[in-house]
Amino acid sequence: MNDIAAELNVDTTVYKALLESTKAIPWKIDWETLRFSYIGPQIESLLGWSQHSWASIDDWIERMHPEDRDRVVNFCVAQSKAGVDHEADYRALKADGSYVWIRDVVHVVRNDAGEVEALIGFMFDISERKKSEEKLLRLQRELEELSYQDGLTGVANRRLLDSSLEAEWASARRNGHPLSFIMLDIDCFKQYNDHYGHLAGDDCLRRIAHILGSSILRPRDLLARFGGEEFALVLPETDREAARGVAERCRAAISDAAIPHRASDISHLVTVSMGVATATPVSGTPASLIEQADRRLYRAKQAGRDRIVTE
Ligand code: GH3
Ligand code: MG
Ligand code: MG
Repeated sequence: MNDIAAELNVDTTVYKALLESTKAIPWKIDWETLRFSYIGPQIESLLGWSQHSWASIDDWIERMHPEDRDRVVNFCVAQSKAGVDHEADYRALKADGSYVWIRDVVHVVRNDAGEVEALIGFMFDISERKKSEEKLLRLQRELEELSYQDGLTGVANRRLLDSSLEAEWASARRNGHPLSFIMLDIDCFKQYNDHYGHLAGDDCLRRIAHILGSSILRPRDLLARFGGEEFALVLPETDREAARGVAERCRAAISDAAIPHRASDISHLVTVSMGVATATPVSGTPASLIEQADRRLYRAKQAGRDRIVTE
């Protein structure tokens, strides 16, 4: 302890009081012996190990989380040998067996000949910061999961479709309005992938999504990717005839885009099949609407594809 005081060659009590009253924990290691010549007494309240139990660099290494040890020790030794100031984050073992996140900020002290003489530094307790960083990461991940966008096509995903359909169902029930739902499936899409490759398949899905998005005209209409090569349209305040009109417009727009599909059984272009369902809900859930549209889509496939079934 007197070592640092002597080196400072000033009113040592002031420096000592300052060093030992900060939250950052000061320390000094002699490079030749790799032993602690000083460590602030605050270390005991942070980690529970007494000031005097910090004798050699091994005490520091042993009291480090095994998962952090190699990375941190190798890094710090290399930097110190190179005479470069550095810092490292790691989990330090407490006397009670738990761990605290520490940031060690290290300054390399050289003698007049330029040789490394000692390392001095401060240990900071960064556990609160790490906790909030981890919390942020967790939230970010949750947000991604909760995201309402389909990653491939950028249109609404299944989650948004479900909640929007739920809300529109309730609204239609309250107001006595019809609600329509279109289920759309690309024809012979497996062959498309087989023939052109999966990446081209992805491109095709993006193009279809774009065409469909441009074919719906009312801002409350929702286009979503239902899954795979299936898309869905939620059309509030839309009756059977109007829904058929939307479906026909979508089919015409896809036909106009004339996307080649040489491997299709039914055409030389990409085609789609659709099932359209309409309800003026009085009770129940929108699941019945989806099921009806799905059954009609199945019938459109059975009847030869490239068509719309509305009843
Ligand atoms: P059908 O006319 O009866 O609808 O036949 P289909 O080949 O379109 O239907 P099937 O269900 O047999 O195959 C669907 C294909 O869609 C198979 C699957 O690999 C492909 N697919 C699903 N999701 C994606 C995707 O995200 N990207 C690509 N490239 N292909 C996809
Ligand atoms: Mg399908
Ligand atoms: Mg298909």
